Amino acid sequence: MPNTVPEYDLVIIGGGINGAGIARDAALRGLSVILFDKSDFGSGTSSWSSRLIHGGLRYLEYAEISLVYESLHERIFLRNIASHLVKRIRINIPVYENSKRGLMLIRLGMIAYDLLSIRKTLPRHRMLSRDELLQQEPGLNAAGLRGGAQYYDAQVTFAERLVLENIISAAEAGAVVKNYCPVETIGLHDGRTMTVGYVDADSGEIKVVKGRIVINASGPWVDRVLQKTGRQTRRLMGGTKGSHIIVGEFKGAPRDAFYVEAAADGRPFFIIPWNGQYLIGTTDIRYGREPDAAHASRKEIRYLLDETNRVFPEAELESDDIHFAYAGVRPLPRRGNRPESAITRRHIIKRHRRPLQGIISIIGGKLTTFRNLAEQTIDRVDRKLDAGLPRCITSSTLLPGAVGVIEARERLEDFAGLSERGRERIIGIYGGRATLILDLAAAEAGLSKVIDAEKSVLAAEVVFAIRHEYAKNLTDLMQRRLMLGLSADQGEQLIEAVAAIAAAEFQWDEQALERQIGRLREYNARLKVV
Ligand SMILES: Cc1cc2nc3c(=O)[nH]c(=O)nc-3n(C[C@H](O)[C@H](O)[C@H](O)COP(=O)(O)OP(=O)(O)OC[C@H]3O[C@@H](n4cnc5c(N)ncnc54)[C@H](O)[C@@H]3O)c2cc1C
Repeated sequence: MPNTVPEYDLVIIGGGINGAGIARDAALRGLSVILFDKSDFGSGTSSWSSRLIHGGLRYLEYAEISLVYESLHERIFLRNIASHLVKRIRINIPVYENSKRGLMLIRLGMIAYDLLSIRKTLPRHRMLSRDELLQQEPGLNAAGLRGGAQYYDAQVTFAERLVLENIISAAEAGAVVKNYCPVETIGLHDGRTMTVGYVDADSGEIKVVKGRIVINASGPWVDRVLQKTGRQTRRLMGGTKGSHIIVGEFKGAPRDAFYVEAAADGRPFFIIPWNGQYLIGTTDIRYGREPDAAHASRKEIRYLLDETNRVFPEAELESDDIHFAYAGVRPLPRRGNRPESAITRRHIIKRHRRPLQGIISIIGGKLTTFRNLAEQTIDRVDRKLDAGLPRCITSSTLLPGAVGVIEARERLEDFAGLSERGRERIIGIYGGRATLILDLAAAEAGLSKVIDAEKSVLAAEVVFAIRHEYAKNLTDLMQRRLMLGLSADQGEQLIEAVAAIAAAEFQWDEQALERQIGRLREYNARLKVV
């Protein structure tokens, strides 16, 4: 019998936030979809951001009014469709005598930000006097402080889970989703369809699928993926690297987030309460190398420490205080010698010319705007295929974890053994899907066990992530499913316990188990500051 090549309307390359969002929108509108990621879903740039769902106040300086408007609009949708993951956050902007941006400019920016978020669901900004600001945040540097502004935005503590929920929703709507399957070739098949060759994660063999359209949603890898066509293509990407450091509670630490102008170069950066710690960043440096190799340099780390110590003088933070640090590459369009911060953060949905007319490449795009980007992409696919698709429903269709959150909370209340903090942790990660974990805990011996001293992690979570959330190894489990790897000790205390449960489920022998632990420790070591 001849081997038939599976055929899809869409082949999506890249399971970051943009690829995942596009897969979800397409599948919900009835297109047949297959999505590949070379690594784990969400393990690229989408894991390494500032984790804000925000309008991007800074973009007002570059007159990116439509981007700010779009982002603030999307913030409303995301707070609804991912209510368990996207939470409001209060941010302060202190203004000093020598600040580049004075009180008047900040005030104008705040008014514009409020006006652009029509149908506002968050409180308006407030200007604060010097004394009010110091009363609220006594650790703030008082020397030369003139006052400031206070406003609201949103934060997605676990952006990795936002990606995953889009993947899960896409799969529930019929999409085929494959992590650890790098795409190696893209070719024209018969002028109407493209062929895509990928390495199959299970067999290691090269397999082929056909697609009527190929979406290149590979973030900072867009140019590398285009090279897989074997054709000469113009370089599209001009990525910049941004780094963050993560520290614990420090002397004088703020209650709210801060958006501060750096003394060294006038760039604004964030100090954000995050996951029981502080996320401090970011930098913005041109970067042309392999995105997976990006790391926070000593210079960037020093810059972030010095600037934080300047705003919160009692902090006296040093490298030893850093729990871990990370860097990501913004998938920005190539823009000559423009200053990094002036490169547009707007996305471009690029249709290629013959003979690559079957490919659409996604350039840029923020976490905040992925849903709209996906809607625009599928609208374009609709026109291209003349498919007569139904309208997009993702602005009002809840992501899987946003359904049944109240019921899940009640079930967790009744579950003996978890602490209050544990219940909050579980809701904050899985939302309403926590009920599925409790069902599993009730159904199988040993899975109702609480595996940590703080009584916050269930054995069932590990098995659930393997069976229902595409986790393929220990690093996926710790970093992007149970979210333990993002805690102060990078999940060190729980590695053995999680690994033992995973070993039983995956049937790893002793050597495989050791290998998994070794790989996770290597991964964590790369994020450590030495
Ligand atoms: C420092 C920094 C701070 C940021 N802060 C914010 C913020 O606060 N708010 C906000 O809204 N945005 C923020 N952003 C922007 C945002 O994070 C990114 O624009 C967004 O995550 C890009 O998503 P993506 O899906 O396009 O790319 P990625 O997340 O990188 O996904 C691309 C995927 O393609 C896969 N891939 C690559 N090659 C192949 C191949 N050959 N085969 C199969 N798969 C492949 C990769 O493995 C990867 O998973 C920030 C970005 C950075 C770097």
